[in-house]
Amino acid sequence: MDEAPDLVGVWQARIITLFPDAFPGTLGLSLTGKALHEGKWQLHTHDLRGFGIGKHRNVDDTPAGGGAGMVLRADVVGPAIEDAMRAARGRWPLVYLSPRGAPFTQAMARDWARSDGVTMLCGRFEGVDERVLEHYGVQEVSLGDFVLTGGEIAAQAMIDATVRLLPGVLGNAASTEEESHSAGLLEHPQYTRPAEWMGRAIPDVLTSGDHGKVDAWRREMSEKLTQDRRPDLWDAYKK
Ligand code: SAH
Repeated sequence: MDEAPDLVGVWQARIITLFPDAFPGTLGLSLTGKALHEGKWQLHTHDLRGFGIGKHRNVDDTPAGGGAGMVLRADVVGPAIEDAMRAARGRWPLVYLSPRGAPFTQAMARDWARSDGVTMLCGRFEGVDERVLEHYGVQEVSLGDFVLTGGEIAAQAMIDATVRLLPGVLGNAASTEEESHSAGLLEHPQYTRPAEWMGRAIPDVLTSGDHGKVDAWRREMSEKLTQDRRPDLWDAYKK
């Protein structure tokens, strides 16, 4: 992956990880994979092990003050960040995937898609030395209120959400404007053939051919669903 020449003006994700083999992972499939293949976005991994110290390329050490687990060293992560950010140009967020971070949202994906690229630091073990986060002004972002073993899955989820908003990645651009979270509401239910399944018919309005009525029904369902399932989103939407 690192051998690919940088294409001018193409959005890039740079991932600092102990497990570069985890990439592109699911990002190499379907629409994101096709777009990666076609050079609509680029992915580079920076192997944290390569910045390790001594013959054994140590990357971690015991936590100051004691306690369980290991912490990624500042003098290992620092040079890896320097290396990954050397290629950064224009607006380029530097992110640490972390359960302590601000929750990832569609608005962040939109913002990152408008930047020139993003660098993501994937933690492992107990995380990284705090000083490195302070020194580089790293933004901490969380995939949700749960703890993963490493940042790689979170990085892939966030890159997926971002890359699908880049121009030309999805075939049908309108589909990113109407879907869940883009306008602060959840999406209406979707149906396709067959017209009847297990005694359940598709709602009549959807087969009526009346686009005005279809739009009104979808809007109504979208609002109802949001009210029922996500009162927090509904309150924010009404404001
Ligand atoms: N000791 C840490 C958790 C470490 S989990 C704490 O309690 O905050 C190991 C690594 O997995 C983290 O460094 C982070 O990069 C990643 N990770 C775990 N949960 C995550 C989440 N919800 N979102 C994003 N990254 C997460």
